[in-house]
Amino acid sequence: MEHRKIYIETYGCQMNLADTELLIGLLKPHGYEQTQTAAHADVILLNTCAIREHAEERILKRLKELVHHKVRRPGVRLGLTGCMAQHYREQLLDKAPFLDLVLGPDAYRNLPSLLAQEEKDEPLVSVRLDRDETYADITPLHGEGIRAWVTVMRGCDKFCTFCVVPYVRGRERSVPLNALLHQVQELADQGYQEVVYLGQTVNAYRDGDQDFADLLHKTAAIDGITRIRFTSPHPSDMSDRIIEEMATDSKVTPYLHLPLQSASNSVLARMERGYTVEQYAVLVDRLRAAIPGLALSTDIIVGFPGEEEADFRATYDFMNMLRYDFAFMFKYSAREGTKAHKWGETMSEEEKGRRLQEIIRLQERLSGEINHHTIGQTVHVLVERPAKRQEGWMAGKNAQFKTVVFPGDGARPGDLVPVRIVSATAHTLIGQP
Ligand code: SF4
Repeated sequence: MEHRKIYIETYGCQMNLADTELLIGLLKPHGYEQTQTAAHADVILLNTCAIREHAEERILKRLKELVHHKVRRPGVRLGLTGCMAQHYREQLLDKAPFLDLVLGPDAYRNLPSLLAQEEKDEPLVSVRLDRDETYADITPLHGEGIRAWVTVMRGCDKFCTFCVVPYVRGRERSVPLNALLHQVQELADQGYQEVVYLGQTVNAYRDGDQDFADLLHKTAAIDGITRIRFTSPHPSDMSDRIIEEMATDSKVTPYLHLPLQSASNSVLARMERGYTVEQYAVLVDRLRAAIPGLALSTDIIVGFPGEEEADFRATYDFMNMLRYDFAFMFKYSAREGTKAHKWGETMSEEEKGRRLQEIIRLQERLSGEINHHTIGQTVHVLVERPAKRQEGWMAGKNAQFKTVVFPGDGARPGDLVPVRIVSATAHTLIGQP
């Protein structure tokens, strides 16, 4: 059988990358294989994200660059999937009427049948959100390497006032636990060593009376899997059982991404995050007391509507006190359809930029100091690939998910190598085996 080829560009978060693997897995039984070149593809998809600013213009520009493939090679289908397809479909169809397909995150199952239809003048649109869709029966085509990303739950029920996710990805639902264990067993059999569980609020995972702690515990019993991570948990769902599991199961890595967003209680209340900064700090104390060597990262938004200088200073001071290992920091931008969108912007872009630069400088200093403290320690590096900058060197991650580079000395991807840290930057540890 001659294979038809599909080319997918992925934008946005890790969940979208996992969805791209799902789309390829979904099309494989229908005779499709992936290509890395749009010029060779029968189907070109942009798997999009609606979280960040300017995403719409960027995608529109990219679609206009890709449309010539349809002109030169009649029969090529151009489509849009993901959060933006769900959120901006009307605007996008107005501006890009040449699109053949528009599919929201709960409609991927329809892709093979839509592609099997005759080409039409009108785009085929499928954007219904489905409270039950988990794609539990579809095997994603995971990329090469030692790490596999596995989506365990989809959607979000939290409705933070700045976030579009509950509207574009729908309500929370979890993949059945046995389906996940089966999937991870297959991954282990294929040689994957690290599994990363994904979900918008991953620790809200639930299957009947089994929760996320049960999932971690049962995953750790699978031979061949040596490291288990997850992202992103919500602070309000970080139960004692999960902390206990992280503390006692050596396969669950001592690394946690725990989004804070702001350390001002009035901003947190307007964001409707569901916790105060004091509650968050108590949670971090409990985590640090239970899990020795825990590395922490976070998300911060500056310039949320009504954020005063004092609110921003509270965030700065809290980051300085808490000492995250690293942080993802953003300027607020209003997303259509969210509650905060109605409040408009209350700060100039320049002021947001100033605040952002201030916390980026702070975090660079903190990350540098924290990493510097690891000099002299021996860490276990799960080797992933040759290092980018130095010939003969290899790169991998330690248990805290920090990148370590070291002279290769015969190490291969998948090896677990003890490495002594000899120097460090804010982003990388440099070691000797
Ligand atoms: S928890 Fe809040 S920020 Fe995270 S996906 Fe849900 S609504 Fe968005």
